[in-house]
Amino acid sequence: MRRLEADVLVVGGGATGAGVVRDAAMRGFRAVLVERVDLGQGTTGRFHGLLHSGGRYAVSDPESARECADESETLHRIAADAVEATGGMFVSTPFDDPGYADGFAAACAAAGVWTEEISSREALAREPLVNPGIRRAFLVRDASVDAWKLIWGNARSAMEHGAAILPYHWVTEILRDGDAVAGAVCRDDAHGGEEVRIEAGFTINAAGVWAGEIADLARCPGVTVVPGRGIMIAMNHRLVSTVVNRCDPPGDGDILVPIRTVCVIGTTDTRAASPDELEIRAAEVQEMLDAGERLVPGFRNTRALHAWAGARPLVADARADTQDTRHLSRGLAVIDHQARDGVRGFLTITGGKATTYRLMAEIVVDAMCKQLGDVSPCRTAAEDLPGSEDHETYWLGSRLAGREATLHDDQLVCECELLARGPLEAMLERRPNATFDDIRRRLRLGMGPCQGGFCAPRVTGIAHELGHTDAGAANRALRTFLEHRWIGLHPILAGDQVRQAVLDDWIFQGTLDIEHLPAAAA
Ligand SMILES: Cc1cc2nc3c(=O)[nH]c(=O)nc-3n(C[C@H](O)[C@H](O)[C@H](O)COP(=O)(O)OP(=O)(O)OC[C@H]3O[C@@H](n4cnc5c(N)ncnc54)[C@H](O)[C@@H]3O)c2cc1C
Repeated sequence: MRRLEADVLVVGGGATGAGVVRDAAMRGFRAVLVERVDLGQGTTGRFHGLLHSGGRYAVSDPESARECADESETLHRIAADAVEATGGMFVSTPFDDPGYADGFAAACAAAGVWTEEISSREALAREPLVNPGIRRAFLVRDASVDAWKLIWGNARSAMEHGAAILPYHWVTEILRDGDAVAGAVCRDDAHGGEEVRIEAGFTINAAGVWAGEIADLARCPGVTVVPGRGIMIAMNHRLVSTVVNRCDPPGDGDILVPIRTVCVIGTTDTRAASPDELEIRAAEVQEMLDAGERLVPGFRNTRALHAWAGARPLVADARADTQDTRHLSRGLAVIDHQARDGVRGFLTITGGKATTYRLMAEIVVDAMCKQLGDVSPCRTAAEDLPGSEDHETYWLGSRLAGREATLHDDQLVCECELLARGPLEAMLERRPNATFDDIRRRLRLGMGPCQGGFCAPRVTGIAHELGHTDAGAANRALRTFLEHRWIGLHPILAGDQVRQAVLDDWIFQGTLDIEHLPAAAA
């Protein structure tokens, strides 16, 4: 069994955990983060991609709205490399309550969320495809955010401050020393399941919707985090260039987010039985496409590319009905296990939103410092993440501009996402065991209109050629990748997307005979 020692162990490699490990490392603690799969594989990698201005919550939850407004402003600066400053709009469509708009504007003003009302005519000039029947429109400071860039930016910063980041380390046991938590035992799935014992003076549980499971392992039962399942669908055109929200109480399919070359409609909100089994129901897909039609008439004429589901970490509140997830609080929750369970050296931070991850980290690390009698201040809002030092947010053409700079020297591996061979080889060099899903999260492999049809076989070939993985392992990685892609493809198969899927199938079956490729033992 491998052994490590740390001042602080952080469980969970989503936005919250990455923010916590950075914060702790910047305050001078020897910090280690463990994540059961890859960073950003949990809810943060399955969300809607919106850096909230706060407008969505101004009426229903002014405190969350204010937090979002403040944090969004901070992230536009310190995490500029992960943000596209698209701006946003709230529009009253013919399907919305016309009375909501006045209350919305007043609530935003009260919560410190910037808005500016513009005429419907100006709104349509900015967003020509939006429903021409809109009656009112408000500009807001919504933006779109690349979750993986955000998480890895935090992780890289934490490493620069001496932290260790350990993906594929699955916590199987929380160590107890009398009435204190003393670290954890993990299974290292990147190295054949070897056990790793991490002894730590303090453990912070940032496991999102799985936080209750980690608290159970620490023998602090009863932490109820309800999985609020939501689905989203990426369409193959960027139909809007700003985030467009319906000016109505929060409901299903009321936000359309432009993300790079596509746009994403979402989302739904129902209680899931388990955060690990998130189905995408056919009826919900139709509901989302109808919702898209209300915002952008003709929405269904574009091609649905991919659907996915995530589970919100909703902390159960004694006053709320836990079946009605839409009305459970989106607020953040710090659970002090010393006060609650008499267990020292252990805090849980969950709930909240990706937009407020930095604030959540600051609050929980402050709470830890208070227990430890440490007075180091939080510096995460003042220092930029690596790559964001120029405070320039990215824009639609950024990847193309980057690609054009190396056009003659570097082969193109993925036409849809403009992925070049150089960054791919560099990643395989750093992480020889990377799965194709890991490559997708870092480099956007297979996320464009062909959904991996052309690029995935090329990546398999390159992985073979580099000798990082034997032929069988690369073949198995390809098959696993395609199986995972299929989960988000089959619920939306209709129209042109069927043609794309059949073409991809011909490529994989016809040219590679993928079913019969030799594969290494799992
Ligand atoms: C449908 C949907 C849409 C959303 N849209 C938005 C949006 O547009 N904007 C926004 O700001 N927020 C949005 N949210 C909310 C936001 O995504 C979440 O609040 C946020 O991502 C939670 O981050 P987290 O780090 O706390 O949790 P996670 O990202 O889930 O991270 C927790 C991590 O813990 C790991 N873990 C679990 N068990 C173990 C173990 N035993 N050992 C080691 N690691 C473990 C998991 O693998 C996971 O990676 C949305 C959520 C959903 C579901």
